Amino acid sequence: MKKGKKIYEGKAKIVFATSDKNLVIQHFKDDATAFNNQKKDVIDGKGILNNRISEHILTNLNQVGIKNHLIKRLNMREQLVQHVEIIPIEFIVRNIATGSLTKRLGIEDGTVLEYPLVEYCLKNDELGDPLISKEHILAFKWMDDFEIDFVNNELARINDFLQGMFRGVGIKLVDFKVEFGRLEKNGKKDIILADEISPDTCRLWDATTDKKLDKDRFRKDLGNLVEGYQEVARRLDILHEQSNIRPLKYSKPKAVKFKKK
Ligand code: 5GP
Repeated sequence: MKKGKKIYEGKAKIVFATSDKNLVIQHFKDDATAFNNQKKDVIDGKGILNNRISEHILTNLNQVGIKNHLIKRLNMREQLVQHVEIIPIEFIVRNIATGSLTKRLGIEDGTVLEYPLVEYCLKNDELGDPLISKEHILAFKWMDDFEIDFVNNELARINDFLQGMFRGVGIKLVDFKVEFGRLEKNGKKDIILADEISPDTCRLWDATTDKKLDKDRFRKDLGNLVEGYQEVARRLDILHEQSNIRPLKYSKPKAVKFKKK
């Protein structure tokens, strides 16, 4: 697959065209941004970890019937994905109150929600991704009623699957953000999961200590972001720890002496 010209550059990823108009290459950068681009840094290795973690999660979601854009991971930083038209909405699912929810509504940080809470935000950096309602989505024709129901159902399935997957490795899925895209197929448009699911887009806390293993390490200046992401990858059994792979010591075989009969 030949890599073509850059068609979009976001805060953490670049999208390149390919020789097939239906496929694009998604490149994961090391750039970290927060608070609508006010805080920026480059964190060595973050893109590689997100590429690998997102590939693992999207592959697993596909296996349980949640259609998504991933075709395959190409290398350390790139994935081949379906070319979709991204719906301009960020879909947020929360299991535990934290972040903007606690600030906005004064809910105590760490409150476990009785039911997962879905929020919609308009994907618009200039406006600071404002919270919107289902009525806004319908009024401005970003999606129709049927599409909203479909996506809400997918969100519940994604949340169930991810919660189970992370719980199994001692991690609480606090909240996450996903994006969906439209894919033209045989004259009709399907909606599929797109973008990425990684510690950049989820809040992940250690199940016993509540230690943050996600992008909040950057947002809150906690340090050791890469170590947090590595911990997630290690627990998901997808990190083949380089430092544990020591070169085998080569020692010259000793000459074997045979006793003379
Ligand atoms: P909050 O609204 O509390 O800031 O974020 C809720 C969840 O959505 C968190 O897991 C956060 O990482 C994710 N999220 C919300 N907006 C964005 C965004 O613009 N970029 C990324 N990477 N994640 C986001």
